[in-house]
Amino acid sequence: MSPAFPLPATSPVDCPPVLRERGQREVFCGLTGIVWLHRKVQDAFFLVVGSRTCAHLLQSAAGVMIFAEPRFGTAIIEERDLAGLADANEELDRVVDRLLVRRPDIKMLFLVGSCPSEVIKLDLSRAAQRLSAKHTPNVRILSYSGSGIETTFTEGEDACLAALVPELAAEPVGAAPALMIVGALPDIVEDQFLRLFAELGIGPVHCLPARKANAMPPVGPNTRFLLAQPFLGATALALEERGATRIESIFPFGAEGTTAWVHAAAQAFGIDEMHFRRVIAPGRERAKRAIEHCREKLEGKRIFFLPDSQLEVPLARFLSNELGMIPVEVGTPYLHRAHLAGELALLPPGTLVSEGQDVDRQLDRVRAERPDLTVCGLGLANPLEAEGLTTKWAIELVFSPIHGFDQAGDLAELFARPLRRRDVLRV
Ligand code: SF4
Repeated sequence: MSPAFPLPATSPVDCPPVLRERGQREVFCGLTGIVWLHRKVQDAFFLVVGSRTCAHLLQSAAGVMIFAEPRFGTAIIEERDLAGLADANEELDRVVDRLLVRRPDIKMLFLVGSCPSEVIKLDLSRAAQRLSAKHTPNVRILSYSGSGIETTFTEGEDACLAALVPELAAEPVGAAPALMIVGALPDIVEDQFLRLFAELGIGPVHCLPARKANAMPPVGPNTRFLLAQPFLGATALALEERGATRIESIFPFGAEGTTAWVHAAAQAFGIDEMHFRRVIAPGRERAKRAIEHCREKLEGKRIFFLPDSQLEVPLARFLSNELGMIPVEVGTPYLHRAHLAGELALLPPGTLVSEGQDVDRQLDRVRAERPDLTVCGLGLANPLEAEGLTTKWAIELVFSPIHGFDQAGDLAELFARPLRRRDVLRV
């Protein structure tokens, strides 16, 4: 039986050609992921092994921490360390020992690599093994790179979750099929999805990352996972290496995206189609009504995405399919063709998709196109505004709850607001 409403295709039919650029880029480094990851895993600590610049980036990006005790910090590599005059490993061990004595609440410690730690070739994976041997079982110590040499903005989350996967327990032999939602979602959004899957009768459902270090999900051949974010290529690969199977879907943005995402899981778990439609209908209708408020402002408007968060392709699909916006160019730092196949197939014909960045050439295209709205990083927004273009900060899209039915209206509003502000300023 076919659904009462059309579901977007989740397999590629006709992907647009992709412009590949390899020039200078203007994207935050992977350390930025700590800003949302430290809120998610409540007994984890992120120790950046980096410079004062790294500490400054984190402090200014994260703002004031609302917790009694901070959940991230920076072990500063001083100039003498860079010159190789001190044994950075000994120094790091001392910093970690002091931190763990002072903070017995920390159950998982991530050593996060940076440009400076890579320049001096400090091997943080070996440091993590050495320190784990000392602090297990009280604290699990892992490492990943957030360096700007290796990672962009959201790849920091991918590197962090990929580092977690080998640590996950193996599912028991003969375990029932389980669903794993992969990607750090705000708790409120995660709870909404968990309620929806429970109503559908899908279970057990686990989340990666879990909210506590000792509650990380098991993994194995009976694990079916749904990516909640389009930037988790390394994590998906690591899960597949542990025997898990990815459920193919577009991403849960907007009424259609969320319907398709939940439907993909429902099909993987053999849920009756009628039951699926009944369960999904109220949320889907709420989402459609909420989105509708922004249609007048967004329909027919031309939007240009500069590469930043890797959310660009799913968001362009949402804005064009559900709100009638016209994506002129959809730039993304890295395009995972398999994970985004369904999304790419749903972009309007003629959309230019670009991967990587040559910032000057791309800015020339922005100026030539003069889109109604340009989504870009903080550093580019002010100069473009000064040229009379309306911009939206891409970073806001990562920090705001935007997944699922109940956030679809807010997601549309994030794009409508700069256009409203522009109209007010023009009057
Ligand atoms: S990791 Fe590199 S790019 Fe990121 S803040 Fe530190 S020095 Fe800058």
